[in-house]
Order: sequence, then structure tokens, then C-alpha cells
Amino acid sequence: MKKTDRCSFCGRTEDEVKGGLLTGPSGASICRNCVSICDTLFTRNGFPGEKQKSAVPAGGEPEEDAAPASDRMPSFVNRLNVPTPADIKAELDRYVIGQEQAKKILSVAVHNHYNRLKSKNLYDASDVDLDKSNVLLIGPTGSGKTLIARTLAKMLDVPFCITDATTLTEAGYVGEDVENIILRLVQAADYDIERAQVGIIYVDEIDKIAKKSQNVSITRDVSGEGVQQALLKILEGTVSNVPPKGGRKHPMQEYLQVDTSNILFICGGAFVGLDKIVQRRVGRHVLGFTQGTENASDEDKRTEAENRLLLESPLSAVEPEDFVQFGMIPEFMGRMPVTTALTPLDEEALKRILVEPKNSIVRQYSTLMEMEGVKLSFTDDALAALAKKAYEKGTGARGLRSIMESIMLDVMYDVPSRKDVKECIITAETVNGSPAQLVLKKK
Ligand code: ADP
Repeated sequence: MKKTDRCSFCGRTEDEVKGGLLTGPSGASICRNCVSICDTLFTRNGFPGEKQKSAVPAGGEPEEDAAPASDRMPSFVNRLNVPTPADIKAELDRYVIGQEQAKKILSVAVHNHYNRLKSKNLYDASDVDLDKSNVLLIGPTGSGKTLIARTLAKMLDVPFCITDATTLTEAGYVGEDVENIILRLVQAADYDIERAQVGIIYVDEIDKIAKKSQNVSITRDVSGEGVQQALLKILEGTVSNVPPKGGRKHPMQEYLQVDTSNILFICGGAFVGLDKIVQRRVGRHVLGFTQGTENASDEDKRTEAENRLLLESPLSAVEPEDFVQFGMIPEFMGRMPVTTALTPLDEEALKRILVEPKNSIVRQYSTLMEMEGVKLSFTDDALAALAKKAYEKGTGARGLRSIMESIMLDVMYDVPSRKDVKECIITAETVNGSPAQLVLKKK
């Protein structure tokens, strides 16, 4: 049969529809718009005369014809459930302890990002160009940067991947091309490009690609500025040619084309020394406060509270120019409109992290022991001692797990082979090296 150059459903010509026509073996054609309408009919309303198919069973393989074909359609975004900022924050609260300001800022940024995507037809060129709200998280190691990004992706049910900026190099040098970042996301989306295009990428250690000002070498700065330059395009939005199997780009290779304009990038880094840069910049004012401000101009007169804040948490006053001083290039900062700082976790926060999150370490160990028929309890002192030890390690909440593992090793080794234990109590003494208290069953 002769190939038609009109959509067999709506009758529009190839020129009238954006994105061309798909032509089937019988010569019938369909345009993108009609595919989208069909998708809605099949998935949202159910096809007439057919029972609604359930989604993929939790944890199971999708049935052959129950595969979430809808998710592979361009209108995937339309069905994204975008929670309100308050709902996003409430969900983050279940997993992330403290970091209130960062959670709030991110909840708003993420809500706006996905709501804007939803409200625009992804394929309608007449729509207003949307500013991307990529996010930069500053915070010491183990303060929850990755956890926040991961929790957001899980909540929104969008593909998510974690990459490390230190593995990247600019094209032509040994290391990974920036396109490999996108490949990770495509892999996380099971090679479903449509879904990958609205995913979230967390780029860790972004501060490690700062340009080193003391670099006096005449060779190019391979690890710093060049990588920032290479990242600019994908952060802003480009159609990236991604090598499907990773590795270096190769002229003979076929590429996956991935549009990065709707991918949300969350970059994280410790930015050690940035606080000093902020303090140095505002130092004049802070000094003015401590030594009297008789001749200060209006602009220089900060309130006492503001000055105290600058002394105590200088990162709350960070400006793009401070990042530039640190070694980030201005163009890079221009693509990171949302910046927020996570605070180091104190002992109280670490103690809460042990028990409060939905999948806290204490809950995990309790579940393991429950499987052995044993109740596991921690005294309040034990939790405080654990938090103190982790705090002294200086690796934030990361330290908690390894400390807990070493405390629990003997118990986890002995208890499964004993049938007489009813309860196991971890006290502050246990945390400091004594054996755990075991309560035995009555004979
Ligand atoms: P980083 O800031 O270095 O990215 P992560 O988010 O990877 O730190 O934190 C490491 C682990 O520590 C997480 O998996 C989580 O279990 C725990 N953790 C860190 N910060 C928090 C927090 N604020 N609330 C709850 N758990 C946290």
C-alpha cells in the first residue's frame, strides 16, 4: 500500500505536525499528538472493553504485555505526580534529619522544576523556555546531600543516578567523558530515553573540579576548569550524544541522543574553605560590628543578629562571587541558580538519625534480630554514646554504621546459634567495649 503523508487519525500533514509521522507496515501513519491521545485512552481511561491492567507488580518482573508502555510515551511527564513543596518536605522529613532550610529550598525547587515540565507540552516549541533550577548543595561529608537527592527521586518515581565529578575529564584526556554521566541515568531508566530525560542526576564532589588558582603549569588544567566547561552544556540543556556502552566516544559508534534540558542536576560538595572566603568578603562589616561602627555607611550597618549569623554560619551568606573565588567558573555558577548549605550534624542530630528515619540503623538491626526471635533494645545512654563516637570521627552520619557494626558483631555472631536468648540490651558500656546484656528465656 502506498505510504500516506498524513496522519491517518487526525488527517494533518507531515508539515502541520511537529516531530513527523510514524508509518506502519500497512502504510497507515500516526502523528505524535495522536500517539499521546491514544496513550491517554489506553492507560488512563482503560481501553473500551478491556480490563484495566495493573502496573508492574512490586518487586516482580513486568508481565510481557503489562509492561508500562505508557511510561515510554512522551506523555510520561503528564502523569508525573508532582507533590506540593509541603508534601515533598514532609516526605524528606521521614528520611532526612535536620537540614530544615536545605529541605525547604529543595522542596520548592523540585516542585517548580517538575510542575513546569508538566505544564508545558514537552514537544511544543511555542512554549516559553523554562529556566532550569539545578541545585548546588554545600555540606560536609555525611550530612545528607546524597540522601536528599536520592529520596527526592524515589518520591517522584523518576530515574536517578549518582556520579562523581572527580572521574570526569574534558574530551581528549584520560578519564570519563561527561556524556557518561547521562549514560548512567539512561541505564537507571532501563534505556528508556523518555524517562531518563526527566530524571535526576546527583553529581558528587563538584568542589573537586574547582580551578586551582595556584596552578602555574603551562599545560591545560585537565581536572578543573576544563571539566566545568564540559559540564556547562549538559547542565543547561543540550541534545547529548551518549555512547550506549560507555567509555570514550568513538567516531564509528552510534550514539543515543538524550535531551538534557529537563534533567534536574543536583551537585554536591564539601567546599572546604568556602566559609573563610565568605568571612573574608564580609569581614569588614563583621569587624565593624565588633569594634564599633561610628563611620559606617548605611550599607555597612548590619544588625547585630546578621553579624552573629555571619560569624557562626558564614555559608548562609554565600554569594556566587565566593564560589568564583573558590575556583568555580562564573558560567558554571550561572547554571546553578539554587544554592543551599547543609550544616554539620551535631551529636543530638546523630542520635536522632540512629532511630528516627524510616530505615534507621537501629530499626534495621532490630529487624535482623527479630528474625532470630530476639528483641533488641538500646538504652538512651547507648544511643548518646554511639552518637558521640560518630561525632568524634568527623565523618557525619557515615560513621554511625561502621561503629554500630563493630558493636553488634559479637551479638550477631553468637545469638543465632543460641536458643535461650529472649532479649539483647545494648548499653553505653556495650558501646565502650563491654559485652551486650542478654536476657534469657525462663526455663
Ligand atoms: P553526603 O552528604 O556525604 O552525600 P550521604 O547523604 O551519603 O552524605 O550520607 C551518608 C549516610 O548517612 C546516608 O546514607 C544516611 O544513612 C546517613 N545520613 C546522612 N545525613 C543524614 C541526615 N541528615 N538524616 C538521616 N540520615 C543521614
